[in-house]
Amino acid sequence: MRRIAVLPGDGIGKEVVEASMGVLDAVAENSSFAFSAEYFDAGAERYLSDGSTIHDDELRALSASDAVFLGALGDPRVKPGVLEKGVLIRIRTHLGTYINLRPVRMRPGLCPLRDPRHFDLDFIRENSEDFYMGLGLEADGPGAFGLGSVRDNARIDISMDFSVEPVQPFGFEVGIITRSGAERFADYAFSVARDKGRDKVTLVDKANVCTGIYGLQRKVFEAKSEEYGIDLEYMYVDAMAMALVRAPQRFGVVALPNLFGDVLTDLGAELQGGLGVSPSANVRPGGTGMFEPVHGSAPDIAGKGLANPFAAILAAAMMLSDIGFREEADRVSDAVDACISKGRTTPDLGGKLSTSEAGKAVADEVRASK
Ligand code: ATP
Repeated sequence: MRRIAVLPGDGIGKEVVEASMGVLDAVAENSSFAFSAEYFDAGAERYLSDGSTIHDDELRALSASDAVFLGALGDPRVKPGVLEKGVLIRIRTHLGTYINLRPVRMRPGLCPLRDPRHFDLDFIRENSEDFYMGLGLEADGPGAFGLGSVRDNARIDISMDFSVEPVQPFGFEVGIITRSGAERFADYAFSVARDKGRDKVTLVDKANVCTGIYGLQRKVFEAKSEEYGIDLEYMYVDAMAMALVRAPQRFGVVALPNLFGDVLTDLGAELQGGLGVSPSANVRPGGTGMFEPVHGSAPDIAGKGLANPFAAILAAAMMLSDIGFREEADRVSDAVDACISKGRTTPDLGGKLSTSEAGKAVADEVRASK
């Protein structure tokens, strides 16, 4: 019996989660997968009624469950960032997830490329280091100053001595990659490659310019490549952007440092057909992962039955795989493809179904697949 913590959240999050739970029910009907769901109502309504985001005892309950399934957070009545920081980031920090997974698979007829060949990519984004550590400052003059950002009780102070005048107001951002951070990132990427029988890992960086952080990262990946007996390929991020549009089928497991991962995973989302079919997960080996669609709460279409539930359903499939039900995960993913092929979709993909009807269509395919 797997325990799933469910946070429907706001807007279309609630609708796509409901549709996904129906698919999980269908999976449970004809497989060894059994689950209990505990619902949490963190989100805009709660924040607007009592000013709270997520409580400590809820965070503990989340980490005690086998997986966290999240719809979307965000509401026009709440200042941007409040729910993202107060709920999403706190959950991620609490769970200690340092890997963001964004699979990108060719879905029937949805790839915008002119003549696509079949591709099946695992984007693995490092999610705790690099240029997204909050180590930045906007400064309006010369002199010595502290960086102003404290992380893990460590304060970094930078002194600057400007001998050339005049000095313009400036800002800077520091990127850091630690050896242990690179090691756990590389371990994750190579173990995915090993488990999926891939013959190489592609590491995306800009080691010709940012030599410090990406130089270290390369050394670590080289050592891991030998340890796992799996080839390592380097791609500069600019060349990778072109290659992904030209020939995504060339790649399999793609390891991306935080900043470049943020950008290229969105390119990946478009390659497979956009927000309506793009799932994501935040994970760490041996820990509770959080699974969610890439899209947000989309207030413009909330409550109208227009939301495409496939991204959330595919996130549920990732969750199944993470908690040990890979075959069931593949069945769900194939069921989504079957619905797309048959035109049993919401209007964004050209179909006529409502959110709940599209969810039921996938559940029916899952039932028929056994
Ligand atoms: P965010 O929370 O990321 O700041 P958002 O919730 O306003 O943004 P996005 O998720 O980025 O919106 O989506 C942008 C637009 O794409 C939405 O306003 C909506 O019109 C459309 N969209 C997003 N997700 C879906 C979906 N699952 N089904 C159909 N349309 C969608």
